[in-house]
Amino acid sequence: MTMNDNERRPSNFIRQIIDRDLAEGRHDRVVTRFPPEPNGYLHIGHAKSICLNFGIAEDYEGVCTLRFDDTNPEKESPEYVASIKRDVAWLGYRWAGEPRFASDYFDRLYECAREMIRKGVAYVDSQSPEQIRETRGSFTEPGRNSPFRDRSVEENLELFEKMRAGEFDEGEAVLRAKIDMAAPNLNLRDPVLYRIRKVHHHNTGDKWCIYPMYDFTHPISDAIEGVTHSLCTLEFEANRPLYDWVLDQLEDLPARPRQYEFARLNLGNTITSKRKLQQLVELGHVDGWDDPRMPTISGLRRRGYTPASLRRFSEMVGVSRENSLVDVSMLESAIRDDLNRTAPRAMCVLRPLKLIIDNWPQDHEEQLEAPVHPQDESLGTRRVAMTREVWIDREDFREEANKKFKRLVLGKEVRLRYGYVIRADEVVRDEAGEVVAVHCTYDPETLGRNPEDRKVKGVIHWVSARYGVSCQVRLYDRLCTVARPEAAEEGGSFLDYLNPESLRVLDDCVVEEGLAGAEAESRYQFEREGYFCVDRDSTAERPVFNLTVGLRDTAKPE
Ligand code: ATP
Ligand code: MG
Repeated sequence: MTMNDNERRPSNFIRQIIDRDLAEGRHDRVVTRFPPEPNGYLHIGHAKSICLNFGIAEDYEGVCTLRFDDTNPEKESPEYVASIKRDVAWLGYRWAGEPRFASDYFDRLYECAREMIRKGVAYVDSQSPEQIRETRGSFTEPGRNSPFRDRSVEENLELFEKMRAGEFDEGEAVLRAKIDMAAPNLNLRDPVLYRIRKVHHHNTGDKWCIYPMYDFTHPISDAIEGVTHSLCTLEFEANRPLYDWVLDQLEDLPARPRQYEFARLNLGNTITSKRKLQQLVELGHVDGWDDPRMPTISGLRRRGYTPASLRRFSEMVGVSRENSLVDVSMLESAIRDDLNRTAPRAMCVLRPLKLIIDNWPQDHEEQLEAPVHPQDESLGTRRVAMTREVWIDREDFREEANKKFKRLVLGKEVRLRYGYVIRADEVVRDEAGEVVAVHCTYDPETLGRNPEDRKVKGVIHWVSARYGVSCQVRLYDRLCTVARPEAAEEGGSFLDYLNPESLRVLDDCVVEEGLAGAEAESRYQFEREGYFCVDRDSTAERPVFNLTVGLRDTAKPE
C-alpha cells in the first residue's frame, strides 16, 4: 500500500476486494498462493495466475507462497516440481519461505478428517465407485443417501483407520463428507474427501495409501498457510460452497481464507491444457515441453520471450470474470515492444546469395562501424568487416523489378547497410539457370553519405563472405491453424489442427562475425528480419537462432 500510483498495476475486481478488506481491517497483510499440480510444465495461463498472485503480494507488501498441490501421486513427478520452481523464479518472483507441498500437510489433513468424523460430518462409505456415481443424481434429480451414511462415529473412526492401514483395496471404501444428497449444487452431495490409492508418492513414498481430494486439501492448506485471498479460475466457482463448508467444520485452523474466481486465459491458435500439451510431447509432435512452439513458460523462454514481456502481457489481458479468447498478436506485441527497446541489432542473411564486388581489391578489408542499437547510444557500436565478397538475401535481388522494389536490381544501385552504395552488373548462373552470384561495383565515395548526382533509396543487409558465421535459423509459426483448436474438436481431435508449417529450418544462413559464440538465450534483432534468440542447441562453431517474432504484425486475420 506504499506504492505510488504510477507504480501500481492496473486495478481489477480482485484488487478492489483486497482494498476493501484492508480498509475494513479484516487482515494485517495480504497472503496469496500459487498452487500448481506438478503434473506437467507451466503454460501461459499459469503465467497469468502467477503474475496475479505474486503481483498482488508485491504491490500490497504481502507474501505469496508456492504450494504444490500433489494429491494425485500417479501423475506427479519431481521433474515437474523442478520445472515449476525454475519457471516461477525465471518470471522474477520469489515465493515466501520454502516451497510447500500439500503432501507436507498429510498428517494434519488426516487429523482434520478425523475431526470431521468425530463431529458426525464425515463417514466411510463402502459402496462401490459405480454405486456412488449412480446415486449421485443429476442436475434435475436429487441423489440418494448411501446405506452406510449413518454409521456411528466409532465405526467410522475405525474404518478410516483401516483405510489408512491398507486393510482395504482401492475402491472398497472412501471417506465422504456428510452434507446433503439433495443439494442443488452437486459438489455438496456428500463429496469424497479421501480415497485409497496404493501408489508411491514422489514426496511421501509409501507412507500413505489414502490420499485426500482437492476440495478437502485446498482450503485446509490455504488456512495452514494463512492465505487471505485464494484466487482460482472460474471453473471452481461451484466448488466455493464446499471450500467454505470444509473450513466451517474445523475448529483450530490458523486463518479463514476466502476463495475468489477469475476468468482463465485462453490464447488463440494454441492449447492451454497440460494434458493435451503432454500429448504433443509424448506423440513427438514437438521437441519436448520447451519446444519454442509450445505455450509453456519454458517454451516461450526458449523462443526468446523475456520475463518482462510475459508480465506485461499478463497485465494487458487483465483480470475479469468474463471468459474470452486472447489473440496471439497481443502476446507478440508485448515481446516486440520489449525487444525493440532492448535487443542489440545484428545482420543475418537467411537465404544467401553471393555478391562479388569486382572493383574492391582482392585482400582489402574495412571495418565498418554500426550502432548496436539505433535509439540507445549507450549500447555503443559494433564492427562489421567489409570484404570483396559478401552475402545478401536472395529476396533482396531481382534481375528486373518495378520502382516499388527498393532493393538490388540488375543495372541499378542500392546501399549496403552501414557501408557503400553498390551497383549490380552481371549475374552468374548455375547449370539449371539459377542465379548463384552477382558481380557488382561499389562507389568508394559513398561511405556514410549519399551520392549527389543520383538518388539511392534502398538499403539492404549483408554479411562478409570471409568473416560471416554459418548458422541455422529456425522459423516458427503458430502451433495450430485455427483460433480455437479445442472447440473445433467435435469428435475429431485438436491434433487435426496442428500447423504443419509451425517450424521451418534454414540451414545455410550467415550471421555477422560478432555473434560467433553468442550465449544461449541472448536475443537480437536481425535487421530487416525480426527478433531472434540463441538456442541451446548452438555450438561454438555453429550458432542456432530461433525466430521469436517478426518485426511487424503480419498475421492475416482468420
Ligand atoms: P491445466 O488445465 O492446464 O491442467 P490446471 O488448472 O489443472 O491447468 P494447476 O496446476 O492446477 O493447473 O493450476 C495452478 C493454478 O493456475 C490454478 O490456480 C489455476 O486456476 C491456474 N490456472 C491454470 N490454467 C490457467 C489459465 N489458463 N488461466 C489462468 N489461470 C490458470
Ligand atoms: Mg488443476
